[in-house]
Amino acid sequence: MSYPENIPFKLFANCKLTAGKNFSTISDLENQGIQPIPNSLLTVLQENQGMSISEIKKLYTPDESTILDSYFSFLFENDYIFFTTSPEQFPEIEETWYAPEAIFSAIMDFRYEPSYDVIKVLNELSVLQCKHIQLRFFEIEDLTAVEHILKSLDGSTIISVDVLMPHKDSIIFDNLSYLFKYPRLSGITVFNAEKEETKSVEGKIATIDYSVSKINNCSSCGKIDQRYFTATINFYTESKNFNTCLNRKISIDENGLIKNCPSMIESYGHASNTNLHDVIVQGEFLKYWHIRKQEIKKCNECAFRNACSDCRAYLEDPTDIYSAPLKCGFKPESQNWEEWFNDPEKKRAIAYYNLEN
Ligand code: SF4
Ligand code: SF4
Repeated sequence: MSYPENIPFKLFANCKLTAGKNFSTISDLENQGIQPIPNSLLTVLQENQGMSISEIKKLYTPDESTILDSYFSFLFENDYIFFTTSPEQFPEIEETWYAPEAIFSAIMDFRYEPSYDVIKVLNELSVLQCKHIQLRFFEIEDLTAVEHILKSLDGSTIISVDVLMPHKDSIIFDNLSYLFKYPRLSGITVFNAEKEETKSVEGKIATIDYSVSKINNCSSCGKIDQRYFTATINFYTESKNFNTCLNRKISIDENGLIKNCPSMIESYGHASNTNLHDVIVQGEFLKYWHIRKQEIKKCNECAFRNACSDCRAYLEDPTDIYSAPLKCGFKPESQNWEEWFNDPEKKRAIAYYNLEN
């Protein structure tokens, strides 16, 4: 595919660059793609935008011009750049982030029956304009508690509910798919299952996912994986300004304690006798909301940081809230993903949190 050499080039505004120590990335926030690029290409994109390719080539040796040709072919063919004689008419997308909800998402943990006043919590979440809740049952006898919660959401601000529960022989697929008559239920994940399987629910977009993962408590959360990377304007701008896991989140652990996330030690009262609103005005509770990826060790040199979720509950150095997520096995030097649990440098933290693979 040929492109004009004498017209200035510009990166599309939806294509955002993230510099890393060993490589960089282009996040295409419209097509939701994340493309690693060499740092030499990042330099061209940062320093030479608004120039034509023929002008840029004058700054480089003939050998480097050949590499430039391959770079620009790649950028043009993948719709990262366009050519215009008036680049000033294409402003950058603002990197601010705003959401009107005081709380956007909540996690509610249970072991068998709720140990706290669930209806009170749901009412308070609605007052805070919460949109999404995740119900995590670590043990379950039947679906009574799940159905009770789903039934209680009429008139609530909550628009989607994800349910996680263990496999139980007596709870068959038909029992689970019946729950989708409640319109806010968006998905069910059944862990400790015999095999990995995704089953569609008739007449719904939602699925029931069966997973062989062994989960007994909240310590299974916090895994960092490229499958969870997100390249959207909302995620990108939130990541530039706030924490990508804990911003606008509140949680109730299986004992009814209010926390940023159930895996954290710090708690802010019992959900049955503490109003959630009184918790989210406390500076101490809000401190995690403001920890951005570019402030976190290792992540601040990783080119995936604006697409990657975070975890502040399991850290490589449990004494440092700016430490990297413990459950990340990415090695920026080699660009390989390795098994985090086997990393000798993580052994002390794994023992500290008493984690099992
Ligand atoms: S901070 Fe970590 S453990 Fe807590 S909800 Fe987020 S990813 Fe999960
Ligand atoms: S180092 Fe790991 S946790 Fe940090 S941004 Fe990169 S992939 Fe994500």
